[in-house]
Amino acid sequence: MNRRMGTRLVWAVLAGAAADLAGLGLIAAAAWLITRAAEQPPLAALSVAIVATRAFATSKGVFRYAERLTGHDVALRAQAGTRERLYDALIAPRGSGHGGADLLSRMVDDTDAVQDLLVRCLLPATAAGVTGLAAVVIGLTLLPAAALVLLAGLVAAGVLLPLWTSAAARRWSARIAPARAALAGRVADLVHGSADLAAYGANERALGQARAADEALAALERRQARVHAAALAGGTLVQGLTVAAIVLLAQNAGVGSVGTAVLALTALVSFEPVLPLAAAGERMAGITAAIRRLREVRSAAPAVAEPAAPVAPPSGPLTVEVDDLVVRHGERTAVDGVSLRLTPGRRVAVVGPSGAGKSTLLAALMRLVEPASGTMRVNGVDLAALPGDDVRAMMTGLTQDPYIFQTTLRDNLRLAGPEADEEGLLRAVREARLDGWVERTGWDAELGEDGRTVSGGQLQRLALARALLYDPPVLLLDEPAEALDEETADRLMADLLDVTRDRTTLLVTHRLRGLELVDEVVVMEEGRVVQRGHHDELVAVPGYYRDLWESEVLTRR
Ligand code: ADP
Repeated sequence: MNRRMGTRLVWAVLAGAAADLAGLGLIAAAAWLITRAAEQPPLAALSVAIVATRAFATSKGVFRYAERLTGHDVALRAQAGTRERLYDALIAPRGSGHGGADLLSRMVDDTDAVQDLLVRCLLPATAAGVTGLAAVVIGLTLLPAAALVLLAGLVAAGVLLPLWTSAAARRWSARIAPARAALAGRVADLVHGSADLAAYGANERALGQARAADEALAALERRQARVHAAALAGGTLVQGLTVAAIVLLAQNAGVGSVGTAVLALTALVSFEPVLPLAAAGERMAGITAAIRRLREVRSAAPAVAEPAAPVAPPSGPLTVEVDDLVVRHGERTAVDGVSLRLTPGRRVAVVGPSGAGKSTLLAALMRLVEPASGTMRVNGVDLAALPGDDVRAMMTGLTQDPYIFQTTLRDNLRLAGPEADEEGLLRAVREARLDGWVERTGWDAELGEDGRTVSGGQLQRLALARALLYDPPVLLLDEPAEALDEETADRLMADLLDVTRDRTTLLVTHRLRGLELVDEVVVMEEGRVVQRGHHDELVAVPGYYRDLWESEVLTRR
């Protein structure tokens, strides 16, 4: 928090305390006024109290307004700052597996917690403390014993009760969170699996499970609500007992009716800002958990460190050289001493069974994972000396799992070229052989939730069109034909090999058809390069490549 925010926060605290003090003053002055007036003194004896009552009544509203204004201003600024820092933390590719719904909830709910911490906990607690202290001081001037009883009552309602509700809330949320997650899982299954559930007549069973999860959650929440109710009742009880004890003490000590009224009403009102602290205590449990989660995201080390002294990226045609590269995922060595060279305009294919380390090799080149050893260079410049974004501007392309955004076809494509004109967009879709589809659906067709309106082949072609529109100096393509049926995959690969002619391309694939067109094939197994050469050379010798080639040829007959 910077200094300006700190100053604003102090103003908010002061305004809140002033509003509560004005409330206290209002009641004390009014109590004095009413009881004194009952004794029918001359009016002049009451005029100060009358003015004071009016002044307190007006200033209470003004101070409360000022508190809300400054308090919310500080809280919203703090929340915005937290969001910004979270965005910054998320832009860098992370090693830890935060993503999807989890991240979304951190962005929305957990940053709300920052606002609540200030508005619902810190500000009210400080104002309540100041008011309670003032009431105790007023009590001390009239009857010290009453002041001590008031102090005890305020501590019970304002400190002990919130501590108890906070601990109870923590205990309950530890039980409620898994129940809520279980229900969310059941509901997600019902929504996403509706077709399969219907196909196997399992609807009723799944509904029954969802209902049971719902009931379990509701039962826990009902029991948690009892804690809330008990805290409310407990606070009011402490307030009532304290006031009653003070009245008794005052009477026993022979304090007059004016003094007793002032003492009792001051005590009663001083609880007003204190009682909501029990609910604040409950909220506090959630807030501390949210802040811990936010810290986790922000402190997660980036998967790849940015260079301390970055150098300028090379320009012009690029040559990529990988030497003896080793990449580990934890204990597991995914890439184990791979070397390759990609010169301008050439195409290299990396093939091998699933788990061979092909995607990890691409991830290392895109600076998404940090290698354990070895070097990667472009035109002689070490990739580690370049900012990650500069590396990805040079080398990028088709990711393994392309995502369709819930927007128009045009905007889905423009992701890779926000400045592209109609002609550029059209060229990209033509090269990706997507022009027929675009003509049928139109540029402004909404691509729907999860891109479900898009077939697997169209999805890959759209991703290819993005890559072609972005047109990086080195095109990286990860399994473009993954999860497609034979015929669609064949057509896509043929088009892809056609359009990448003369483009510097690294193609990861598990299909061999058409690879006679690329300049070099690198065969990987268990992280190592086991064979390399032109397709014609590789099919001529026994080994993984020829076996796979023969089985592909056989299945096509
Ligand atoms: P391929 O692309 O050839 O199928 P990958 O590069 O995806 O192979 O995976 C190589 C090995 O590394 C596999 O054993 C895989 O289980 C492991 N691996 C890949 N990504 C991760 C990851 N993020 N965390 C841990 N292990 C991983």
